Formats: sequence, C-alpha cells, structure tokens
Amino acid sequence: MKNVYIAYTGGTFGMKPTPEGYQPDTGLAAALAAVLPPAGQSGMPAWTLHEYERLIDSAEAQPGDWHTIASDIAENYDDYDGFVILHGTDTMAYTASALSFALTGLRKPVIVTGSQIPLCEVRSDARGNLLGAMLIAANHRIPEVCLYFDGRLLRGNRATKVSGTDLDAFDSPNCAPLGCVGIEVSIDTARVLPMPSGEAFELAAPGGQEVAVLKLYPGMSVARLERMLEPPLAGLVLQTYGAGNGPVGMPGFLAALAGASARGVVIANITQCPRGRVDQSKYATGSALAAAGVVGGHDMTVEAAVTKLHHLLALGLSKDEVRRRFGHECCGEFSPTS
Ligand code: ASP
Repeated sequence: MKNVYIAYTGGTFGMKPTPEGYQPDTGLAAALAAVLPPAGQSGMPAWTLHEYERLIDSAEAQPGDWHTIASDIAENYDDYDGFVILHGTDTMAYTASALSFALTGLRKPVIVTGSQIPLCEVRSDARGNLLGAMLIAANHRIPEVCLYFDGRLLRGNRATKVSGTDLDAFDSPNCAPLGCVGIEVSIDTARVLPMPSGEAFELAAPGGQEVAVLKLYPGMSVARLERMLEPPLAGLVLQTYGAGNGPVGMPGFLAALAGASARGVVIANITQCPRGRVDQSKYATGSALAAAGVVGGHDMTVEAAVTKLHHLLALGLSKDEVRRRFGHECCGEFSPTS
C-alpha cells in the first residue's frame, strides 16, 4: 500500500472560528481520521500527519518557513511515496515555488493544498482538496512540486492565487494545468516534467538577504526607486509594463538601476501582466533595462521570481552566478521562448 506524508503547516484548512476570526488550531490528525476513507480503499494511501509546532496563517509565512518545510520533506523523503503540504492559501504559491527550487531533482510528488473554508464548517472544500492531493501524491509518477486546488493540478512554481472568495482560488496563467480531477483523475503526462536521474536538493537556510518587489506605475519617482534599491537590498523583482518595459527616458531611472546592479543588487524583470512574457529585446525601453544589468524573467510569476532570488542568494553564489542561474530554467518555472 502507498504511504503519504502530510505536513500540516496551518492555513484555513484546519482553522477554528474565534471572536477575532479564524485562527489555526491543533489536533487535525483526529479530525482527518474521522472524515477520510480507510487506507487501501480505491487507491487511498496510508498516511502520517506531522502537525507543525508553529501553525500559522500563511500571511505570516517567511522564507525560513519555506526552508523548514523543504527540510521536513528531505528528512522523510525515503520513507514515503508522496508528500502533501497543508498550507494557507494566501502565500501558498510562494511556498510551492520555493519548494520547487529547494527540492531540485525531485523524483516523487509534492502536492501543496489547503482550502478556502475550514474543514470544521458544514460546507467546506477542505476534504475534497486533501483527498485529491493525497490520491495524486500516492498514485501518480509526478516528479514535481504541484499545487492542487478545486480539481486542478497546477505546476507549483507557475501558480498564483487569483481569488479571495471563489473555491477555484488558483490559476497558472502561463502554464496549462498538469491534471484535472473530475469523474476521472486525468494527468497530462506530456506536460509533467521528465523524471530526473537523481535528487540534488539544495536546502540552503535563508541568510537574511532582503528581496523586494516593485511594481512600476505612472507617477513613480526616481527617488522612490532609489529608496527601494538602498542597502541592504540584495534582490529586486521589478514588475514592468507589457513585454518588460519601463520609463527609461525619465532622468535618473536607468542610472539608479545600473548603479544598484553595479553594487551587486540582482534586479529581475517580470511583467505585471497576468499573462505573457518579458522580452527585453523587443522594445528600446526593454533593451535599455538589459543594458542597466536587469535580468529578464521570461514569463515567471512574481512568486516564482521572489522565491528563486531568495533561493539563489541563500546559496551564497556570486552575484553574476545568481544572475546567470536566474535566467536559466531550473524546474519548469518559465516557458522556453519558441
Ligand atoms: N489567511 C489564510 C491563510 O493563508 C487563508 C487561507 O488559508 O485560505 O493561511
């Protein structure tokens, strides 16, 4: 019988109502035992739940929490067929992306899921989301970190939260789903990453490097940009317009970026459009950014760009190596240009 490890990190899934609103609660293993089918029935795996000591609303998540979860999977890796991470939806896509970079060469499924309504409520998406994630983690050869929600299996590092109210809270606008759960569980095996030859996990504890996100907007001053780039900033994800363009004619704008790049700040360019990609060679306003040392982020989500920068900076690589690796695909986080 297959065996699945469930890491319960917090999130709405296991929350209880309090006078201040929903808060994480302990004792989830007993609640699950009461609602999940018995192991062995119709592909249902045996399972072990690890309830984290610090159960959080995922709005509280920090890079150290990504490292804790990745290390937990690595420690239990040999003993289980697949892994399910129960997580809050607010920063679920960040955690899924971070895990994909830390668990390089992964050969077993790691499925991150949660719910919009707690398990304890009369009407909830919790049981269905967990069951789908468990059945996929146990029975399918998917060597990837995925996010499973409301019947869709998404690549973890392409997913983003798109709704605070709907049950289909996630999408991966630049990457078709890897699978759907309807009457059948159907996995699009052609879209799943190939099985790697061996695990090569890169579990670097975050060293406190600061990564920021700046979304360009008409009216932003150069002084604002300069303040964002001030030390100790190590990396900046710049959310530019359209195909990767910015106000490069604004006096001081390019100089601020070029100066920070020269100081060692790694600046990555992703588009603020939900769909589409950055091509810094398409417009003069984009190629000027490349000349200022800005690295193109292809069609990465902001979640993937932030966590990839954190990951590469935590490895202690040279800034040039961080820039080089940021622009190279590692685990399906961007689509190659056609
Ligand atoms: N605030 C919650 C969290 O992210 C929302 C959820 O889980 O749906 O932990």
